Amino acid sequence: APARIAVTGLAVMGSNLARNLARHGFRVAVHNRTPARTRALIEAHGHEGDFAPADTLEELVASLQTPRQIIVMVKAGAPTDAVIDELVPLLEPGDMVIDGGNAHYADTRRREAALREAGLHFVGAGISGGEEGALNGPSIMPGGSAESYRHVGPVLEAIAAKVDDVPCCVHVGPDGAGHFVKMVHNGIEYADMQLIAEAYDLLRRVGGRTPAEVAEVFRGWNSGDLESYLVEITAEVLGHTDAESGAALVDVIADEAEQKGTGRWTVQEALELGVPVTGIAEAVFARSLSGRVEQRAAVREAFGASEVVARPDESLVEDVRQALYASKVVAYAQGFDQMRAASAEYGWDLDLGAMATIWRGGCIIRARFLDRIREAYDKRPELASLLVDDYFRDAVRNAEAAWRRVVAKAVAAGVPAPGFVSALAYYDGLRSERLPASLVQGLRDFFGAHTYRRTDRTGSFHTLWSGDRSQVDA
Ligand code: NDP
Repeated sequence: APARIAVTGLAVMGSNLARNLARHGFRVAVHNRTPARTRALIEAHGHEGDFAPADTLEELVASLQTPRQIIVMVKAGAPTDAVIDELVPLLEPGDMVIDGGNAHYADTRRREAALREAGLHFVGAGISGGEEGALNGPSIMPGGSAESYRHVGPVLEAIAAKVDDVPCCVHVGPDGAGHFVKMVHNGIEYADMQLIAEAYDLLRRVGGRTPAEVAEVFRGWNSGDLESYLVEITAEVLGHTDAESGAALVDVIADEAEQKGTGRWTVQEALELGVPVTGIAEAVFARSLSGRVEQRAAVREAFGASEVVARPDESLVEDVRQALYASKVVAYAQGFDQMRAASAEYGWDLDLGAMATIWRGGCIIRARFLDRIREAYDKRPELASLLVDDYFRDAVRNAEAAWRRVVAKAVAAGVPAPGFVSALAYYDGLRSERLPASLVQGLRDFFGAHTYRRTDRTGSFHTLWSGDRSQVDA
């Protein structure tokens, strides 16, 4: 019988996705540039379901029912283009190529347009959840034509994670929408992890707690509003003892974080769109700062390391929990704001509530909290910011005093908390009656005749700074 769907690219992600498909009863054709991988998959897991191995792409294409659906799971970038170029001449109008790799959404837009020219469908599907998710149910964010989703959607929904029987997969929108949403997901993941790391650092250095004690705190938090995969695994990592040294593993791991790809893309795109995703940007930069080992040593030598005197006090734990929650609301508000801006820019018509729904399971930022976000957008799709939804407004109001105490303590102690600090500044910025941007505009007009608008009349104005300082219409 012809195969229902195909996977080409059988490294860890592709293999696990193929196994997930097979376990759900789909006959799945599998192929890899190096055939040894295909054979290894069949040898180890062939018994799990109905696989149709192929040595060449021609064979793969020939084994499929029409219209054909081929998932490409190869290295993102040039390798993806190479595989697409090889595939296209083998396909017929109406066939679908689904890129499940971590593509940049602009590449997805380009590829979608090119394949559409050829009468083919191109689906850019963001897939989150790592190898474990690919095997047992990822969060899937497919972008492409509505027609392609009618064919591919049911298969993707079958293999996606489920929360309350609802699949973590929905048609995100046209062309690059799926990969864009996946990118923002990763940006939010960066911010979330940075905030968690700051909370730990404060409880430890200001609160005087050991990693094992902080692990206990996180375990407790995981049964409340903060319940999430990242909070859960934070307790695991902090509670882990290094077998070799007997020390807490977190003290043995080098404190230099990497920032590959998607977090950086999120910030780059936010700059293009003019959306202030300060929490995500701080998270990316905090990782960069941690990696500047020589610079850190030089500055530490010049100034001495900050000497933090721990002041254990019970109220700190609850204050930090509140600060973490409020900062997290800000990070998500910023990410959703970025999706809204992109949706308007590219005409994607994104359903923001649905994005929260498909992140409830399968992906790294899965959290109880996302139900609240979905409810917020279901109630008011045009919400100006997540912050103004009733539920989040109350939550942030309740947390505000604790949030300020934590930021003040961090600043006074010399413990860096860029995520908490910038989240609070974002909140204070948005709610200010007047911002000093008026002065910035005045300065710009002074040195560059950039003009300004007035609060009391419409139009653009320029002051004759080098003349009699009168105001002229610009
Ligand atoms: P890799 O990104 O390591 O890619 C390896 C695969 O790409 C192999 O199958 C390899 O074939 C194939 N490949 C590389 N270059 C070419 C080429 N020029 N022509 C044909 N095939 C090529 O594999 P992963 O499984 O880690 O990831 C696959 C995709 O999924 C990537 O885009 C990744 O970003 C994305 N992703 C990964 C996640 C993860 O947790 N790892 C999570 C979500 C998405 P060969 O065996 O012949 O070398």
